[in-house]
Amino acid sequence: MPLPVQQEPVSFMTDGRLEQVTGLVCVICEQSYPAEEAGYVCRQCGNEGILDVRYDYERVGSRLSRESLADDREMSMWRYRPLMPVAADAEVPPLTVGWTPTYDAPRLAAALGLAGVWVKDEGRQPTASLKDRASAMALVKAREVGADVVTTASTGNAAAALSGLSASMGQKNVIFVPESAPQAKIAQLLAYGSTVVLVKGNYGDAFDLCMAASAEYGWYNRNTGFNPYMTEGKKTAGLEILEQLEWNAPDAIFVSVGDGSIIGGLHKAMKDALALGWIDHSPRLFGIQAAGSDYLVQAFENNEDVLTKAPISADTLADSISADLPRDRIKAMAAVRETGGAYLRVSDEAILAAVPVLARGSGVFAEPAGAAAYAGLVVAAKRGLVGSSDRVAVLSTGSGLKDVASAMKAVMAAGSEPMVIEPTLAALKEALATRG
Ligand SMILES: *Cc1c(COP(=O)(O)O)cnc(C)c1O
Ligand SMILES: [Zn+2]
Repeated sequence: MPLPVQQEPVSFMTDGRLEQVTGLVCVICEQSYPAEEAGYVCRQCGNEGILDVRYDYERVGSRLSRESLADDREMSMWRYRPLMPVAADAEVPPLTVGWTPTYDAPRLAAALGLAGVWVKDEGRQPTASLKDRASAMALVKAREVGADVVTTASTGNAAAALSGLSASMGQKNVIFVPESAPQAKIAQLLAYGSTVVLVKGNYGDAFDLCMAASAEYGWYNRNTGFNPYMTEGKKTAGLEILEQLEWNAPDAIFVSVGDGSIIGGLHKAMKDALALGWIDHSPRLFGIQAAGSDYLVQAFENNEDVLTKAPISADTLADSISADLPRDRIKAMAAVRETGGAYLRVSDEAILAAVPVLARGSGVFAEPAGAAAYAGLVVAAKRGLVGSSDRVAVLSTGSGLKDVASAMKAVMAAGSEPMVIEPTLAALKEALATRG
C-alpha cells in the first residue's frame, strides 16, 4: 500500500490567536518560545528538550472558574478549553472524549484501610483508553496547521486513539505499532481505516521509524514525549478528578507509567488548579511501573539523572507501559518529586492479580496497564506510604477488552473458572453443589 505523502511541508506553528498561552518553555534550558514560533521541541536542546505550555492564569481565570464549570453542560474534555492550547472556535473531533466517571469504591478503601478510594474509568473513552484525550488534542493542532496526514508511534492505545478520532474527522493517518501489539488494538486500527505499519521490533523501534517518516514526508507528528500538546490533552483527566471530587483534592493519585506523559499531564493539572486557586494542596503523585519496565523506578531509587541514564531493556505483559526509555521522563520525574510521591514497581503477577480485584471491588474492568495502578496502591498501602487518613484516586487508564488474552490469564491465575455443563437444571444443580 503506498504511504500518503504530504505535498507541502507544513510549519508546525499556531496561528497566533492563543491569547491564553504565554509561551512554550523547554524543560531543560527553560528557553521560552512564543506559541506562534515554537516547533515540537527546543531548538537548542533537540529532541530531549520537550516544551511545556505556559498560561496567563489571570486571563484563564477570567474565563473559567469552579462556578462557571458547575454551570457548563459541555460534558467532555473541552469544558476546560480556556485552559488548553486551542482557539475558542477551533473545530474538535465529534467523538465525545473525557468526562469519564470517577467511582467511589468503598469496599476497596476498606480492604486497604484507606479513608477513600476512587477509580476513574478511562476505559469509557471512545477508543477505550485515556489516549483519546491526547489524540483529540493532536487532531485539533493538526487541523490548525493544515496537515494532510497525521502520524504516531504507539504501543497500541495512542495509535487506536489517533486512528479512531481521525476516522471521526476524515483525517488521513499513518500508524506505527510493534508487531507484538495485542490483537484488539490492531483490529481497531484496521477497522478505522488507518494506514497501519506493524514494525518488526519494539515500541522504541516503531517510535524511531515514525520520527524519521514524519520528517521525511512532512506528516504531523503526535508522538508522545515529542509533541508538546499531548500533556495538555492528558491533563484533563486530572482536572476532572478534582472537579468530580468537588475540588477536595485527593491526598494521592496512582497511575501507571510507560513514557511518563500521563503522569506529567496529571502534574500539570495540579499546577494549573493550584495557580487558579481551585485546590488548596496538590495530591502526591505515585507512578507505577512494571518490574520489567522500571526505568523511572530505578532513577527514583538511585537518584539518577534521567537526562543521562541509559535505556533499559523492557519486558512486561502490560504492553501499554513497556518502554525502554520513557520519552517524557523529565516531566514524569518532576511530577513525582515535586509532589512528594514515589515511583513503585509491581510484578506482572501482581498486575494480573489486580485485574479481577479491581473489577470485583469497583466494577471497573481494566487492561493490565490500567490495573497496574491499583497493584501499586496495594504496595503503597502495605508499605505505609498511604494510610487511614488518605483519600486516594486510581486512574484506570484502559479497558480490559483491549487485551482479552491477558484478562483470561488473570482470571485463570485467580482460580476463576466457569462451570461447563449440559443445558439441564439437573446438571446445574450438580455443578453448583460440587462447587460448594
Ligand atoms: C499509554 C498508557 C499508559 C502509560 O502512559 P504514559 O504516558 O506512556 O506513561 C498507561 N496505561 C494505558 C492503558 C496506556 O494506554
Ligand atoms: Zn532547551
